[in-house]
Amino acid sequence: MCELKKISLIDEFTQSGKTRFEKTEYPYDEFLSPDGFSYRILSKSDIELKFSNVKSGQILLEGRFDLSLGIPCDRCLKEVEVPISLKFQKELLDEEHRDKVDDEDEFYGLQGTDLDIKAMIDQEILINLPSKVLCREDCKGICPVCGSDRNVKQCDCDTFVPDPRMAGIMDIFMANKEV
Ligand SMILES: [Zn+2]
Ligand SMILES: [Zn+2]
Repeated sequence: MCELKKISLIDEFTQSGKTRFEKTEYPYDEFLSPDGFSYRILSKSDIELKFSNVKSGQILLEGRFDLSLGIPCDRCLKEVEVPISLKFQKELLDEEHRDKVDDEDEFYGLQGTDLDIKAMIDQEILINLPSKVLCREDCKGICPVCGSDRNVKQCDCDTFVPDPRMAGIMDIFMANKEV
């Protein structure tokens, strides 16, 4: 699989009025979040980036990227297609103009005058991940006692006092979320 390469922004940092467009693919099938979860990428556009020199050592970056991720429902763990539309603006500073204490730009994928597009895009995806995902508003979720999907089958379990012996089943379901 081809990788997203780092690009050098030396000209954009140094040449007054310089503008550059980049259009590139996001060549990955899944998004890995830093906490260890991976989500399938179900559809995606090309990444479009525009770099504009503002002044020496400063670039305005504007970017767009649309994708949809398969994220498990918080209640029943069924995969839900979640569209994410990234549209971002960011000021990039070279090392000379950067606050040495504030390493945010490095975290953003900037190393010297090289930009790691994957690191930057992954960070934007992470910021825009929804905090709550439901397959439908009234998803009934998984029975904590017998582990059946209550959207499909209504079991007769007394869920008020879950049987502790069945806790292992919930562990298996939660472990599946990480696959
Ligand atoms: Zn659900
Ligand atoms: Zn049940």
